Amino acid sequence: MNLCDKVFRQIGNPLEWSSAKKANLLLWIYLVQQSIYQVWIEMAMRLPEFAGMIDLQQVAHHRVYFNSLLMLSAGLILLTRLAQTRNRQSVFYEYLATLYFGVSHVYYAYCVGLMSLPVGVVLAGAPVVGFIFFDRLAVASAFVISLVLVIGLSLASFMDVLPYAPLAQNLYQGDGRLSMGWQLTYMVFASPHLVFIFALAYYVLQRWRIREQEAMHLSRTDSLTGLVNRRHILSLLEQEKAACEKREMPLCLVMVDLDHFKSINDRWGHDVGDQVLIMAAMALKNTVRQLDHVGRYGGEEFLVILPGLEAEQARCLAERIRTTIAALVLELPDGESLSLSASLGMSCYTVSQIVTVDDLVKQADVALYKAKGTGRDRLVVAP
Ligand code: GH3
Ligand code: MG
Ligand code: MG
Repeated sequence: MNLCDKVFRQIGNPLEWSSAKKANLLLWIYLVQQSIYQVWIEMAMRLPEFAGMIDLQQVAHHRVYFNSLLMLSAGLILLTRLAQTRNRQSVFYEYLATLYFGVSHVYYAYCVGLMSLPVGVVLAGAPVVGFIFFDRLAVASAFVISLVLVIGLSLASFMDVLPYAPLAQNLYQGDGRLSMGWQLTYMVFASPHLVFIFALAYYVLQRWRIREQEAMHLSRTDSLTGLVNRRHILSLLEQEKAACEKREMPLCLVMVDLDHFKSINDRWGHDVGDQVLIMAAMALKNTVRQLDHVGRYGGEEFLVILPGLEAEQARCLAERIRTTIAALVLELPDGESLSLSASLGMSCYTVSQIVTVDDLVKQADVALYKAKGTGRDRLVVAP
């Protein structure tokens, strides 16, 4: 397990978190962003390199709002933390956090210039990540309201009702280009968003990848024996047959059916029957080569695919399977021991022969039927 997987397992799946916990995470991230804005403004006011960039009077005027917003974020973090232990499933907290995030961001953006890089990054990135992570209607509402505010404030600035970027001084140089200090400021303001969007997108995609692998594994695996299930062993047969045809190699198929399995269930119960199936599955897996495939075809029936083996070699391997199963003994708690046997039917595809996968399965089944009819605990090879 690599470090990423360990972290994922520790955090769990944020997509499955409660509404309050998701809101809490957003607010924590937002508090960090707000602190970065604030520290940066304080630095810009003091450093001689940034002299004349900030309107000190306006900062003094807005400072009370900045501090209030910081406190509001901290308060909401506390609220959503408490909510995690109470009303866990209420989507209200996602509405609250996303709306607060959107609207207060518009205020910050208004202070430093609405037509700027950070605003573009937030407007484009926040809904994309938000739609994955939060309630979609909550994100859509917050986005629409914030966008309307951005447009409204931009129009107000355009019509000189409100100043544009009141905190900024000398936003543009004499040649009309954005000043170096403000270019840097915009980059600093945009970077926490970029990091957050990148990290969350990476995390969610990684989770999806793991989940898809798990779902794929489950859809292919027989839960009792851990072997591949009927659907997948047949799909492997298709693939192996096509590969053997292409490489002009033979392929053999063995159908294995445990003998008198019903009487094992009847005599010792279903649990012991299950144990026998697990034991037989392990024995099959351990007997064949690494490149062979073993799958559970039905209740106590297994399919073994032997690609690249000539009929005689495959017959030897199938015989070994039979003797291995015949040698299995299950010691029962009451001191009794249970022994097993299996009947096997084998069919082979040889180069230049025209047979379908269905034909191969049918031939193996007919051979198995013969093995059952002629005394069991034996292998019959289809003609
Ligand atoms: P034969 O030698 O002719 O193959 O006889 P059999 O008793 O092995 O075959 P039959 O088809 O009559 O019975 C198969 C039994 O396997 C019936 C069913 O209850 C049992 N079985 C199927 N799936 C499972 C399972 O997952 N667990 C257990 N314990 N039993 C199962
Ligand atoms: Mg059977
Ligand atoms: Mg059977």
